[in-house]
Amino acid sequence: MPHRAPTHSEEQGRKAYDLSYTRQGKHQAVRAIYQTTRWRKLRAQVMLEEPLCADPYGWHVEDGRPRRSEQVDHILPLWVSLTLAYSRRNLQGLCTRCHTVKTHEDRRKARENGEGRMEREENEEREGLIAHGRVL
Ligand SMILES: [Zn+2]
Repeated sequence: MPHRAPTHSEEQGRKAYDLSYTRQGKHQAVRAIYQTTRWRKLRAQVMLEEPLCADPYGWHVEDGRPRRSEQVDHILPLWVSLTLAYSRRNLQGLCTRCHTVKTHEDRRKARENGEGRMEREENEEREGLIAHGRVL
């Protein structure tokens, strides 16, 4: 049987498949983290230590009304860096509104920049913030 180079559309199809496969695998890994006892304990610890929303947009300071932490946020998103999944310094308590907006923004940035670029740039930026104690 003669060897035949893959056509352009076959090549595109394979790349699309590889990408969705990789994303699917990562998605499952992220979901698995939320089901661990280790995550549940860490989440409870963050909620105790940070009963008030970290107010990443300054809204609560602005209106003079602090909000309760309702969710625990990965400052550097899980889909960018699984290695920081259980890092206390990468976690903050947020109210639902702030968490929803931040998650939306993180996803938009990831789409616009491509996940690889986001990983490099935001890693440096956010780790700098974390290291200087401005984000805890
Ligand atoms: Zn908030």
